[in-house]
Order: sequence, then structure tokens, then C-alpha cells
Amino acid sequence: MKDMPQSKGLVIVGEAECERLVGRKDAFDAVQAVFAAMAKGDARNFPVVREALGHAEALYGFKSGFDKAGMVLGVKSGGYWPGNMAKGLTNHQSTVFLFDPDTGQLSALVGGNYLTAVRTAASSAVSIAHLARKDARVLGMVGAGHQSAFQLRAAAEQRAFDKVIAWNPHPDMLPKLGAVAEELGLPFEAVSQEDLGAQADVIITITSAFEPLLMKDWIKPGTHIACMGTDTKGKQEVDAALVASATVFTDEVAQSITIGEAQHAIADGSVTEDRITPIGAVINGDHPGRSSDDEITLFDGTGVGLQDLAVASVAARLAEADGSAQRISL
Ligand code: NAD
Repeated sequence: MKDMPQSKGLVIVGEAECERLVGRKDAFDAVQAVFAAMAKGDARNFPVVREALGHAEALYGFKSGFDKAGMVLGVKSGGYWPGNMAKGLTNHQSTVFLFDPDTGQLSALVGGNYLTAVRTAASSAVSIAHLARKDARVLGMVGAGHQSAFQLRAAAEQRAFDKVIAWNPHPDMLPKLGAVAEELGLPFEAVSQEDLGAQADVIITITSAFEPLLMKDWIKPGTHIACMGTDTKGKQEVDAALVASATVFTDEVAQSITIGEAQHAIADGSVTEDRITPIGAVINGDHPGRSSDDEITLFDGTGVGLQDLAVASVAARLAEADGSAQRISL
């Protein structure tokens, strides 16, 4: 075995290191690049597996893919354990495994919990950067759970917002989001759903809703909406008629029409698959994106495995660069 090429070894990056190393700009750049690669056909997601374990009421699965442009190969494995909160743990748990695309050898193990939030926020931020009106001033948030603070922080960096308004089905959760707005120096106001639609120039929805929370007639012309909560069959955050009246963009069309926000408009026939554009086409300059100040643009952010792999590979690279990565030989 003496002459065999040596493994480069396995890098291990824990949750705390990911949080310390991977900032919003790193995540934005990584997610934007992988969306662009997907639209060019240089990166693809493999079929997702998601199964009920029949134990601890848990849902477990994995999302994998290969980005040939970024040379990132791997799988995010994890799921949802509803009893975790009572044990002082996050209900969503995930870990990313990266492999050397040239040899298939395991190259990194990276904590996926913080990275999931930061890559999901980067996804809506990329959509705002490319699709929202440049003069957008009012940011509307629908949702006030774990993801919402990440979403707010990333969105606030994309336009010169002067106000944040919010609505949540559980109003008691709003003050925590308000504290994040305050920290960012933005006035925060809890409003009704109708007021949110009437005032907001950019709206992010990030809830676990199974019924529409925003109706078409409440939304003003020119609004950009990033629908981020719907990532499963049956979930829904906005009226299907709103999706039908908007110019629709997504991370991945195959997911948008099956598990994303567009699934309902597809099911009732008001939207066809060919009307949904991958955001990567806008990033690559192959689609103009917003075409007028009055157009409503809607980004259906379903969440793809390649986003996780992209930010995990950034974490592994940065941890190696600053010497904080644990390394073991295989
Ligand atoms: P969370 O449990 O911390 O918060 C849930 C949010 O949804 C809160 O605003 C809550 O008030 C609201 N909510 C709960 N039950 C509801 C119901 N029945 N109807 C309407 N609203 C309800 O969750 P989170 O971690 O903030 O995640 C929010 C959503 O985002 C989840 O649906 C999650 O699956 C989804 N998500 C999507 C992506 C993606 O890439 N698109 C990534 C991560 C999470």
C-alpha cells in the first residue's frame, strides 16, 4: 500500500465554527453561484429521500447533488425530531458530508443546522437583489419563527429599507423579530395582513402554513415576494391567484411545481411549468428578471441540497484556512 496516493484526510467543522466562519456575504455568494451553475446545467440535485422513521415521530432524509462548476459533491442528511425542543435541542437536525469529486473519498463533515438558516436567508436575499425594485423601502415579514431573524438580516442588506412591518399567525412571536429590526436600526411595526400587502415593497413569507396567508388583491403592483416556507407537498403561504398573476422565479423548477409555492397554481391549471424561470437564468443574464416597475415578481424558494453543499464547502475551506478545522486521516 506504500505507493498508493494518500487520502487528503477528513475535515470536521462543528456548528459553532460554522457560525463563526460563514457570514451572510459568504452564504450569499455561494448560493448565488450555485443557482447560476444549476441554470447552466453545470450543477444538479439528485432525487430527495424523506421518510417517516416510525420512531420518535421523526422525519429523516437526505438531499444530495453535484456542482461541477464549483467541484462540490455531497449529501445533507437529517430531518425533523419534534421531541427535541423538550431536550433543549433544535427540532431540525442536519449534517453535511462532502466527498472529493475526483476520488469519492469523504473529505468533510460539517454541521448543517446554522448553515440551513443562513443558506435559506441567502436564497431570498439573492432573489431580492435581482428582482426587487431598486427603490424598495418597506420590508414586510410574514412569519416570526427560527428562520425569520436570519431572513430579516439578509434582506435588510439588499435594499435601503427604512421600515419593517410584520404579521404572524402567532402574534406573541413578533417582539423577538422586532428586536432584530431594532438592532438593525429599522423601525418595526406589527400590522394586519391587508396592511402588510398595502405597504410592503418586498415581502418574505417564512411560515409552516397549509393555507394562504396573503391574498392577491392585498398586494400592490411592483411588489417582490419571496415565498420561503413552502417546501413540502400541501404547504401553502399565498393565494394561488397571486402566484398566477405574478412573474414566477424559483431555485429549481422541478421542486417549485411539486413541493413549492407554485404547486397549487400548477394543480389548478392557472400556471404552467414553462412560466416559471430559474433564478439562475437571471443571475446569468439569460432572463431580464423584472421587466417593469408595476410587475409583481414572486420567488418560490423551495430549498435545494446544492445550497447546503455550497455553504458547507465554504465552511470547510474557511476552517482549513484559519487552522480551526479538526482533521483526521482516513
Ligand atoms: P418555526 O417552527 O421556528 O416557526 C414557524 C413559523 O410558522 C412561525 O412564524 C409560526 O407562527 C408559523 N406557523 C406555525 N404553524 C402554522 C400554521 N399551522 N399555519 C400558519 N403558520 C404557522 O419554523 P422555522 O424554522 O422558522 O421555519 C419556517 C418554515 O420554513 C417551515 O415551514 C420550514 O419547513 C421552512 N423552511 C424552508 C426552507 C427553504 O429552503 N425553503 C428552509 C428551512 C425552513
